Amino acid sequence: MVKKYKIGLIKGDGIGPEIIDEATKVLNVVGKICDLEFEYSEMLLGGVAIDATGVPFPDATRDGVDKCDAVLFGAIGGPKWDNLDRHLRPESGLLALRSHMGTFANLRPAIVYDELVNASTLKAEVVSGVDIMVVRELTGGIYFGQPRAIENDRAFNTMVYTREEVQRIARVAFDIAMKRDKRVCSVDKANVLEVSQFWRDIVIEIAKEYPEVELTHMYVDNAAMQLIRNPKQFDVILTGNIFGDILSDAASMLSGSIGLLPSASTGAGVGLYEPIHGSAPDIAGQNISNPLATISSASMMLKYAFGELEASQKIDDAIKSALRDGYRTGDIGAYDAKVLCSCSDMGDIVAKYLMA
Ligand code: NAD
Repeated sequence: MVKKYKIGLIKGDGIGPEIIDEATKVLNVVGKICDLEFEYSEMLLGGVAIDATGVPFPDATRDGVDKCDAVLFGAIGGPKWDNLDRHLRPESGLLALRSHMGTFANLRPAIVYDELVNASTLKAEVVSGVDIMVVRELTGGIYFGQPRAIENDRAFNTMVYTREEVQRIARVAFDIAMKRDKRVCSVDKANVLEVSQFWRDIVIEIAKEYPEVELTHMYVDNAAMQLIRNPKQFDVILTGNIFGDILSDAASMLSGSIGLLPSASTGAGVGLYEPIHGSAPDIAGQNISNPLATISSASMMLKYAFGELEASQKIDDAIKSALRDGYRTGDIGAYDAKVLCSCSDMGDIVAKYLMA
């Protein structure tokens, strides 16, 4: 029986429309192969929404995302809207969308494809085979804690986590580890911070619900060092908001190319799936962007939002095959390219490998 999923599509600005078009091209092919039917509902966000409605996050988008099973998002922003008041800028629309969706877990994989080991700034033998998932708590911690203020001669922020916030993000990390190599490394600063000791104690409690998963702990300063020294030691990294912000960016750069990496923001409700890069106004409209980060985001959506593991794996395998055979968009063209492709060519190639 055909299974049906309703996907909210937010193409956004710059290269957003072209990369989303390639992702839906690939989704439609995998859908046919795996008996899945996708109903798309397009919504406006960012600059295009400002142009059409005057605001970056229109009510129709707010209502629309609630009716979807998942949202696939391209990117927003561009120089055209940079001089607007902050609350009217495209980026404010994205923050408002995330807050509306209540996505408290940010999942950022750092994958190094064998064919692109030379794209990394680290040595090939250090990064070859890296496959890390950083699970970052997104809506708590020091970025949101109260009180916070700048006073005359001092300024302060508050790092606070509740038991429930730690429990729910820990479960996300352990659930993901169960679908991977069953190892979680929880990163904190428990040697200095009470809030980190609290975090650590709760993670240890939650780990008892997952006896198959091996739990280790690491201080954040050491984790930063280990990510560069020996990134292959990690499977799932679980961490709070500020540490995750820093570590996920460091981890993503192991791969050497921003055009390859997907992300997911999930919570109790609908999840948001998007590439980690922005709208790349410098190359927009030329059909030369790399759609693989967005196609990978669609694969994450199949896996984490719908539980369609086979379809997700097929997309991941097709991407690997395309890279193995030397297909490259311009951003990765310097690394063992055999065929230089446009954005739409790359979508076609991934679709072709899916059908092979
Ligand atoms: P960016 O990620 O858009 O671009 C950085 C560089 O990477 C550019 O040279 C760009 O051409 C290149 N690049 C990015 N994605 C690529 C892809 N798929 N294929 C090939 N090359 C790619 O970051 P930026 O230049 O700092 O920001 C541009 C705009 O995007 C700004 O308005 C910014 O606010 C916005 N932005 C949006 C998001 C988002 O929508 N989630 C994230 C970051 C930045």
